[in-house]
Amino acid sequence: MGKVTRSITSQKKGAKMTKIGIIICARYRSCGGGKCFRALRDRRGAFSIYPAGEPVEIIGYSSCGGCPGGNVEYVPAEFKKNGATTIHLATGLVVGYPPCPNIRHFKAFIETAYDLPVVIGTHPIPQTYMKVHERLPFWKDNAMADLAKPLLEESPEIQAAYN
Ligand code: SF4
Repeated sequence: MGKVTRSITSQKKGAKMTKIGIIICARYRSCGGGKCFRALRDRRGAFSIYPAGEPVEIIGYSSCGGCPGGNVEYVPAEFKKNGATTIHLATGLVVGYPPCPNIRHFKAFIETAYDLPVVIGTHPIPQTYMKVHERLPFWKDNAMADLAKPLLEESPEIQAAYN
């Protein structure tokens, strides 16, 4: 059982609502968040770790601030003040090209500095991106199958629904 799963399990024992802060890649800073919010409602992609019916709230949504991601140092503080229990790094960090080279640094920093679990991903990977990325070495080189497991386990039908 990974750190994130353990942490979420302990939150459930305490009957606390999961409160999520989302950090998106600044290359998509104008994104309206439609796929993320839909995926949370339907418990798809990285949000599949939360059982249907379990109350989950998004309490903050921000970009990394642009390469190399300076806002990641500060914005979790605002999320935490608003009750964040978990941070999600949006799927755009995984599938934008090039994928964000700082994903592991962001995760380690937030978990260390803010003591909040970090989940890699939000909405399912769109099938159009999946088809290209699975032919590229980045995910294998970075063991993305372990890091972003729920994203990579979605069915082709669901991926297509997020194109
Ligand atoms: S690639 Fe990474 S550091 Fe650069 S803008 Fe996107 S999330 Fe931020």
